[in-house]
This record gives sequence, C-alpha cells and structure tokens, in this order.
Amino acid sequence: MQRRFSRRRSAIHGYGVFALRPLHVGERLLEYRGRRLDQAEVSARFGQSAISGHTFLFSLNARYHIDGSDGGNLARWINHSCDPNCEAMIYVDINGDERRDRVYIQALRAIDIGEELSFDYAIELSVVPQDAMRAAWQCGCGAPCCRGSMLAG
Ligand SMILES: [Zn+2]
Repeated sequence: MQRRFSRRRSAIHGYGVFALRPLHVGERLLEYRGRRLDQAEVSARFGQSAISGHTFLFSLNARYHIDGSDGGNLARWINHSCDPNCEAMIYVDINGDERRDRVYIQALRAIDIGEELSFDYAIELSVVPQDAMRAAWQCGCGAPCCRGSMLAG
C-alpha cells in the first residue's frame, strides 16, 4: 500500500505529519503507539517535566498515559491545532483492561495531499497551571479561532 503520511518540518511547531494522498472523513489514520505508564511511572520518569509540554505523553484514561517516546510511531509527531482536521478516538478494551485501551487518530474531514495533520490536544493538567506552565503550552497553530493554548477549554 502507498504510504499515506510523511514527517517533515512544520510551520506550527518542530516536525509535523503530512498527508501523501487525499484522506477521507472518518478514515482511521494512525494508532498513537507507545508504552503504557501509570501516574507513578510518569512521575518517576519525567518528574515536573511531565506537565511542561516537552514530552510525548498522551493521557489515555484515568490510570494510564501513553509514552510516545518509547515504542511510539509517527503519531507522536502530529501537532496540536485549535481548528484540527483529525481527532483522537479512544477505543476501550472490551474486557475492561485499561492498559489495553487504544488511541487512533481519525480524519475529521477530507484532507488534501500536503496538508498537515492535527488534532486538539485539549490537555487537562492535574494541577492548576501557573504562568510558566501556561507559556509552555502556548499554541501557535495560526487558526482564526486559536485559543492560544493547547490546554483544554
Ligand atoms: Zn491554536
């Protein structure tokens, strides 16, 4: 099968993931892969930087995070946008094993060749963010509706 995506420099931030062929609404694009870490493991590995905006952690459910820097794939390079063309869908494990829940990035609308993929991170922090933390999560997506932050709400 033809490759659907490539990673290259992004106007939003660092690297991004770009479509190599047209993608259709609802198309399942990439699983967000990586090691599952519980809260204690996240604290042990990352300490304060876990909430700094400089990790590849994806909040999977109440117990687990996915660490895209460990066993991850291209999905970890997808940037945040306040006007995204993709969404992150969580597929709950049928046997209720929270460690086995999965995340798939799906197209929210039709995406053209060369368009950068994005989804709304809508980060929920476990603490009330201070100014320095807000700055770390500042958004540069450039959308007219940009809320200025990757944090939820
Ligand atoms: Zn934005």
